[in-house]
Amino acid sequence: MSEQVVIVGGAIMGSFAAWFLRREGFAGDITVVEKDPTYRFCSTALSAAAIRTQFGTPVNIHMSLFGVDFFRRIKQTFGPTADIGYVENGYLILGSPETSAARSAGAAMQRAEGAEVLALTPDDIAQRFPYMSMDGVGIGTFGPTGEGWFDAWSLLSLVRGAARDLGVRYASAEVAGFDMGGDRIRAVRLAGGDSLACDWCVMAAGAASGALMGLLGQPLPVSPRKRSVFSFRAPLRAANFPMLFDTSGIWIRAEGDGFIGGIQPPADRDPDATGDFEPHHDLMQDVFWPALATRIPAMQELRLDRSWAGHYEVNALDHNGVVGRHDEISNLVLSTGFSGHGVMHSPAAGRGVAETILHGRFVSLDLTPLGYHRIRSGTPMPESIVY
Ligand SMILES: Cc1cc2nc3c(=O)[nH]c(=O)nc-3n(C[C@H](O)[C@H](O)[C@H](O)COP(=O)(O)OP(=O)(O)OC[C@H]3O[C@@H](n4cnc5c(N)ncnc54)[C@H](O)[C@@H]3O)c2cc1C
Repeated sequence: MSEQVVIVGGAIMGSFAAWFLRREGFAGDITVVEKDPTYRFCSTALSAAAIRTQFGTPVNIHMSLFGVDFFRRIKQTFGPTADIGYVENGYLILGSPETSAARSAGAAMQRAEGAEVLALTPDDIAQRFPYMSMDGVGIGTFGPTGEGWFDAWSLLSLVRGAARDLGVRYASAEVAGFDMGGDRIRAVRLAGGDSLACDWCVMAAGAASGALMGLLGQPLPVSPRKRSVFSFRAPLRAANFPMLFDTSGIWIRAEGDGFIGGIQPPADRDPDATGDFEPHHDLMQDVFWPALATRIPAMQELRLDRSWAGHYEVNALDHNGVVGRHDEISNLVLSTGFSGHGVMHSPAAGRGVAETILHGRFVSLDLTPLGYHRIRSGTPMPESIVY
């Protein structure tokens, strides 16, 4: 009988794992179990879908560089009509004068790892982006290539469709438990009472992954945290508008004829958000808008079109993904917990899962720093640039 892989969660992480398994030559059965085939509430569909190479750790930079290459070659991979609206307008991350030396050293490290990241002075920034005020700014790091944004829904539709074309089965069902046999998951149990036998199980359930690992009696500090996105218009046209991260903590980028933006809630207002998708309306009025108008005076006049909230799948240990084989359950592979940077890293994570199952190790890019070992030992992977 052929080998069976069951993937829990069918959004971007689950779909890339399935697609890469096939592309790398896995000939067995692959079933992706997804509880909500509309994908209405998954993080992928509600994401800001931006990609940056500005990270503090080489593994995250290299995952992004692979993502950039993958997005640039989307038509070669999926055919001439494939389009994810990929725009490379760069990330501009502004910092106070006190952070200049450390930020400049960070940009040098990113360049040494292969990313194109510039350390700009306030004068340089004002020349490139004359509509921004430079009050309180000492440095801006900027990736003129290899950073930008895309449409996450289009990416998900492409990868999922391509996986199905390669014989991957998507089952519409909720995973409710697991049957163990020794150190292995023998079967994945579904809420309706059926179960799926498996040789390999992949955990790609996004923000629900921590709770599902709890059913296996295994720790994984991944839970849903609400992040709001405001979509608005403003009297500013700028073809070069970047993905801007301001010193105040707000972010904003262009989207269609207008803009989207947001701000992280303060830590004391960031509880487990299971089931809560109501945007933080007060943050828009009280925090986001004033900070935005200070940085970009033309944004004083803006018209809010709509807002929504999605869930970051926050890994409370270190806000980084958890990828690779579990240390005690020998046929369990994880791809989860990316805490707000999962869509950009989904191609690299999916390839890593496929290599783990097919070759027993990471082949193309060593993702060991993101391994489960650090969850077990409580040792965070230090990453200085998290949002
Ligand atoms: C507002 C916002 C902005 C973001 N901005 C960015 C960004 O700019 N760049 C970036 O890279 N990332 C960003 N992210 C993060 C990114 O969206 C996530 O890291 C990524 O989508 C995670 O993908 P996933 O497949 O792991 O999770 P999800 O997309 O949440 O998918 C998990 C799937 O598992 C399914 N599932 C859960 N439990 C079960 C079960 N028991 N049985 C069956 N199925 C189950 C769910 O229905 C869901 O479809 C953002 C997220 C949000 C919310």
